[in-house]
Amino acid sequence: MEENRGVWVFIEVNEGKIEDVSLELLGAGRKLADKLNVPLSGILLGYGVKDLACQVIYSGADAVYVIDQPILKHYRTEAFMKAVIQLAEKYRPEIFLYGATPNGKDLASAVATDLSTGLTADTTMLDVDVDKRLLEASRPAFGGNIMATILCKKHRPQMATVRPKVMKALEPDISRKGSIIEEDLNLKEEDMRTKVLEIVKNVTKKTNLAEAHVIVAGGKGLGDLQGFQLIHELADTIGASVGASRDVVEAGWLPHEYQVGQTGETVTPKVYFAIGISGAIQHVVGMKNSELIIAINKDPKAPIFDVATYGIVGDAHEIIPKLIQQFKEI
Ligand code: FAD
Repeated sequence: MEENRGVWVFIEVNEGKIEDVSLELLGAGRKLADKLNVPLSGILLGYGVKDLACQVIYSGADAVYVIDQPILKHYRTEAFMKAVIQLAEKYRPEIFLYGATPNGKDLASAVATDLSTGLTADTTMLDVDVDKRLLEASRPAFGGNIMATILCKKHRPQMATVRPKVMKALEPDISRKGSIIEEDLNLKEEDMRTKVLEIVKNVTKKTNLAEAHVIVAGGKGLGDLQGFQLIHELADTIGASVGASRDVVEAGWLPHEYQVGQTGETVTPKVYFAIGISGAIQHVVGMKNSELIIAINKDPKAPIFDVATYGIVGDAHEIIPKLIQQFKEI
């Protein structure tokens, strides 16, 4: 049987624009493809997306496979999965990368299941063992204390989702040449089990954390979305902005623009509350220059206390209501 060959990147498009993570993946994919001496290709699906193919090439790809059809106008697992499978079975990539976005994660897991191959989720480092032709996909494990490198020895393609903002996009080069290959997808609307009825935009108010004077930031220690409401309540009471750790953003409790840290915002408010946040280095680099840091954590050994001006050891669910009450009485 013919060998799998080539590095592929799924190009995610939202509102007519290529997502930054896809451009970052083209940068990372370029390095892998060069090491393996194989082409790098972008997989561009959607409706009215054809014109974006050049940008994919300028950003590092040798080729772009395009399926541009009304049925792909909005992301739907079923349609996108069928389109990707059709291409993957025809051209047989060796490595296939997706952004670890909600759609990227959804699509990658569906494709991996259908192709009976492995998938490393939420990767933050990529390399390749050229002799063994193995993708080395690494991701934090055990609460970020170790990096685990995961190999997919048997099955092809080797697939990974990669977190946004950890890889570097290449400077676009408009003199880069590449091929644009248009494909058809033989799928009709009546074959689809899901229909998009309406797209409702997220209308949560925009935050500008970088300019906030007081930030109440919450972490996974709040337990769940319901528990995190205490952070909003405290912030509302004292007129502060809300911030979050990355784990909170990944849990879907808040959008990415609220994230503080290495892959989020760097903030320097007068007062920074870090509540139920462990104080991982990637969080601390984004807030350690705050004038006053107040940490609340039930673990007295939590690293956040190393950078805190004041520390309160205890359960956030008990302490925050008391703080709210005190502030209301002032
Ligand atoms: P956890 O680590 O789960 O900590 C929860 C804390 O809450 C614990 O300290 C616990 O003791 C405490 N707690 C539990 N229950 C309670 C309670 N009832 N009351 C009070 N305290 C309680 N992280 C970021 O935040 N920002 C970034 O930009 C970022 N970028 C990253 C980039 C890379 C390349 C990598 C590898 C990681 C990055 N991370 C980032 C992730 C980071 O390593 C941590 O995993 C993350 O910050 C942990 O979030 P957390 O503190 O909310 O959760």
